[in-house]
Amino acid sequence: MAGLLAGKSALVTGGASGIGRATALAMAREGARIAIADQTEAGAAETVAMVNAAGGQAIAIGADVSREDQIQAMVARTVSAFGRLDCAFNNAGIAPRNVGPAGQRTHEMSRESFDAMLAVNLTGVFLCMKHEIVQMLAQGGGAIVNTASIAGLVGLPTATNYVAAKHGVVGITKTAAMEYAQDNIRVNCVNPGYIKTPMTDPTMAERYDQLMTKVPMNRLGVPEEIAEAVVWMCSDRASFMTGASHIIDGGYYAA
Ligand code: NAP
Repeated sequence: MAGLLAGKSALVTGGASGIGRATALAMAREGARIAIADQTEAGAAETVAMVNAAGGQAIAIGADVSREDQIQAMVARTVSAFGRLDCAFNNAGIAPRNVGPAGQRTHEMSRESFDAMLAVNLTGVFLCMKHEIVQMLAQGGGAIVNTASIAGLVGLPTATNYVAAKHGVVGITKTAAMEYAQDNIRVNCVNPGYIKTPMTDPTMAERYDQLMTKVPMNRLGVPEEIAEAVVWMCSDRASFMTGASHIIDGGYYAA
């Protein structure tokens, strides 16, 4: 299949839903063979079926990004299926309401909620990069995109744990970009604003009008608007881009 990622092998975490699913579909459209990972293999398999129905080639992997043994196995399975790993999209993530009550300020947040968030949204990205980079060094290069957020660049009241994790993702992206710049491995992150996915549906049901006052375009983004940028950042067209935060937010950060 011809396209921006023709002949490449890619891995997407959080590929069963939202931004991850849209990106897997866009990568397949652009010619990549894709390993679609999520914490349940059944969820990933649904995206695989969509890729296959569109004429692409994909495999499903069940892997919890907070478990190093599972991440190591995920990378090994991808390489065993496709021979190499050219593009990795480290995107799996959770929202504050997944690890504690919504609406808590810093002094109200439990240590457990903070740690549980970091385990997935920050340590998970670190573990994925660690094992992907081993393979990319062995094969002579690759491109990594991590999903951060506008919450990796600004504060967000009642989301201390999420903001800490996403600022961390921006920081480890910059650091890895510097460490592997001479090894033909590019490392960038994408920083979405408010995007319509299952993650944001509950918040939007409660506070859509209030939150949209902060977005100059006055609407939610859709996952496909993130996917297009990730595909390009993974492609050879982005050959001089590394260590960057690519903001896609309807103008939120500019305002
Ligand atoms: P989503 O639709 O909920 O997708 C996230 C996926 O990650 C889900 O399939 C989820 O599985 C999976 N996941 C959660 N914990 C995992 C774990 N420990 N191991 C493996 N997979 C796990 O959410 P989304 O909006 O597409 O979010 C994707 C990324 O974008 C996240 O990193 C999020 O922080 C970031 N982001 C989203 C927005 C937004 O407005 N939507 C804005 C900025 C950044 P389950 O469904 O089974 O939990």
